[in-house]
Amino acid sequence: MLINDCDLPLPTFRAMQKKTYVKLGDLSPSSIKMGIRQLLGNKRFKGGDQLASRQWRMYTGTLVHIGQQILLQDDPEFKCEIPMSVKFNDVSKFFKLPEDLTIGGTCDLLHIANNIYTVWDYKTLATVQMIDDEKIEGWTEQINIYRWLLIVTGTVPKVDHLYVDAFYIDWSPTKAIRSRDVNDIPCPTLTIPMWDRKKCEEVIYNKAMEYLKYKDSPWDEIPYCDDKARWYKPPKWSVCKVQPNGELGSQLKFCGFDNEEDANQKLMERIAKAKKDENFGIKKSGGESTMCKDWCDLARNGHCDFLSRNSE
Ligand code: SF4
Repeated sequence: MLINDCDLPLPTFRAMQKKTYVKLGDLSPSSIKMGIRQLLGNKRFKGGDQLASRQWRMYTGTLVHIGQQILLQDDPEFKCEIPMSVKFNDVSKFFKLPEDLTIGGTCDLLHIANNIYTVWDYKTLATVQMIDDEKIEGWTEQINIYRWLLIVTGTVPKVDHLYVDAFYIDWSPTKAIRSRDVNDIPCPTLTIPMWDRKKCEEVIYNKAMEYLKYKDSPWDEIPYCDDKARWYKPPKWSVCKVQPNGELGSQLKFCGFDNEEDANQKLMERIAKAKKDENFGIKKSGGESTMCKDWCDLARNGHCDFLSRNSE
C-alpha cells in the first residue's frame, strides 16, 4: 500500500494509487538486464522505492505509454501494450532449466502492415543527452527478448524490425539549437539489431540460473551487480583548454587517458607549447556506477551498500 510520506498533491497521489504493475512472470525482459542484486532486491523490498521517484517514473514513462496507446487505439495497423508470458522450458529449443520459470512482459507497440512486423519500445530519458553504446546494448538485450516472447507465444509469426522510440523528457527547441550534444528532435528512432533465437535463450537462461542460485539466499550473500548492470564507466582523465570563464572546455584531440599520470605528462607538454593567454587543465570523467548512484532505489533506501563500500 502506498503512503503519501512526501506530501504529493492529492490528484497525483490518487493517480499513483491507480497505477498497478501486473506481474507476468518470474523474470521479464527488463529484469533480465538488471544485475542479480537489483533484480532480487526489487522483489524482496517491493514497494520500497521512494514515492517521489515513483512519481517521476509515472509522469515520464507511464504517461508516454498511455498517451501513445490512447492516440493509436483506432489505428488498425497498431497493437499497443501486448501482455505475454511463457514457461521457459516449454518453449526453449536450446536450454533447460533445473526448475522452470515463467518469462513475461508487455510489448509496447507492434506495427503490422504489408506483412511486415515491427516492434517498437518506448524509452524515456531523464535528460537530453546523446545515447551511448552501453544504453543501446541494454535496450538491444531487452527488446530482443520481447521479440523472442512475441514469437514463442505465437503472438506473431515473425518480427522484421526492432525500434526504440527514445523520448527526452527535458528536450526543448532552444537546447537543440544551442547544443550540438542535443538531438534535433525530442524522440529519435533507433534501429535495434536482431539476435538469433539461441542468443536470446542463452541470455535468459544465464540470468535464470543466477536467479535460481540466489533467490533464497540471505540478502548479504547476494553478490553486487556487475559493472555492466551498474552502468560503470572506468575513469578517464582528459587534457582540456581553460575557457575564458575559467571552466574547462571539451577535451583536446587524442588527450583522453586511462590514468592520471599520462594525462599530467601530456598537460606539461601542452603547457610548454602554449601560446600567450592559453591555459590547460585536466578533467576527470567516469569512474562511477551511474545506476547505483542515480537510479537504484535499493541504494537510496539503504538496502544496498555498494556505493559506501566502494567509495566511488
Ligand atoms: S546499488 Fe548498485 S549494486 Fe546495489 S543493487 Fe543497486 S545497482 Fe546493484
